[in-house]
Amino acid sequence: MRRTHYSSEINSDLHDNEAIIMGWVSSIRDHGNMQFVTITDRYGDIQVVAKRKECTEELFNQIQQLKEHASVAIRGKVKSQVKAPNGTEVIPLELRVFSMAKKTAPFIIQSKTSIGIDTRLNLRAVDLRRNFLKSIFRIRNTALKTTREFLSEHGFIEVNTPKMIATATEGGAALFPIFYYDREAFLAQSPQLYKEQLTMAFENVFEIGPIFRAEPSRTNRHLSEAISIDVEQAFVDYNDIMRLLEKMIIFTVDSIKETNKNELEYLNLQLPNLELPFPKYSYSNIVSKLHEAQEHIKWGDDLSPQIIKDLQNNRTDAFYFITDWPTSIKPFYVKTKGEKDEMMCESFDLMYGSLEISSGSTRINRKNDLLKRMKKQGLNVDAFDYHLRVFDYGVPPHAGFGLGLERLLMAITKCDNIRDVTLYPRDIDRLTP
Ligand code: ATP
Ligand code: MN
Repeated sequence: MRRTHYSSEINSDLHDNEAIIMGWVSSIRDHGNMQFVTITDRYGDIQVVAKRKECTEELFNQIQQLKEHASVAIRGKVKSQVKAPNGTEVIPLELRVFSMAKKTAPFIIQSKTSIGIDTRLNLRAVDLRRNFLKSIFRIRNTALKTTREFLSEHGFIEVNTPKMIATATEGGAALFPIFYYDREAFLAQSPQLYKEQLTMAFENVFEIGPIFRAEPSRTNRHLSEAISIDVEQAFVDYNDIMRLLEKMIIFTVDSIKETNKNELEYLNLQLPNLELPFPKYSYSNIVSKLHEAQEHIKWGDDLSPQIIKDLQNNRTDAFYFITDWPTSIKPFYVKTKGEKDEMMCESFDLMYGSLEISSGSTRINRKNDLLKRMKKQGLNVDAFDYHLRVFDYGVPPHAGFGLGLERLLMAITKCDNIRDVTLYPRDIDRLTP
């Protein structure tokens, strides 16, 4: 048996014609002498209606024994039916069950509200059959596709850098150690140093790949393995990079609006009309506002999501930048505002409400400055020799950002838990499926 039509191709033009559809059973309603079975394939649903008096007894019994999730083929006759979900239904003539479902799933496929995430994650491939998640991952697909399109159009080339590495780049979150032949190595926390090096030859590069971080705390916005969209550009500074990033976000959101109308409707989401430029607040400005609000915070402290939430009130669903952070809480490769102002650096975080979406900065391109900062941050300079040596050969001024794909999806789909927008999330408690 070969499929002749996808669900989306079954319409009233096919009235009275035969079709073979394939998919899985997403719902069954038993009305005694009538069975309504919804078959779902990659493009959507089609209703199959079996009437006892119009089927052979064998076929009717076969259909009566179907269970949700079974994967099947149905040969049948297409009928226009105004009452059916897409104006047509299929009257079965033959059923082939490829694989019968043996159990009832612990969650309802058609439901938008969901049960505990752990129960769902334990059976993730089945959970992903829910329209809710399928919609999210189709939106993810558009986000990835349009990001690549956007960066490529702006003269960036896509690269891949090693994920097995010798040294840390980000501080903070811990590294995952691995065995590398007879040595210890680590999974990469970020492609930072490699993408910086690649600006020497290619000027504009980007990478979309995994980053690995042994995050110490359990939160709804940290994964141990996340997908980062990393961008690095030569001969520009952080202001240029902020302009690039906000354009990229708008391009992505607009493409999703255009491409994923059905998904957005299903998720009941209305994406905002974003305008350029995104608002910018300096770190110092935010700290003063926090002081006015009687918050206990010192200049130099990191800004936690909670403290930003307290400040925000009703500006919770907007993108904005926080710029010019204290040098002491940013990584060693971030350039300071100037020789006179070493306390602050040319850095930004792109925020969505209280959620950090991206961090970026102008990078240090002079070896001496880099050495000075590494020593100040207590790093073992010798371990970075493989990186530092290229700075003897004319590293251009450069700037860039790292953007968490899952964080961006949380913002776009308004999901509070990063695990929902990740196919197979990894966290401190979870290494399977
Ligand atoms: P946070 O403060 O939220 O822990 P960070 O400042 O440590 O993040 P960066 O090193 O700036 O993270 O990484 C760049 C981007 O990568 C972040 O803005 C975020 O979008 C994403 N990211 C970082 N760590 C994680 C993680 N553990 N899980 C998911 N996304 C992450
Ligand atoms: Mn950051």
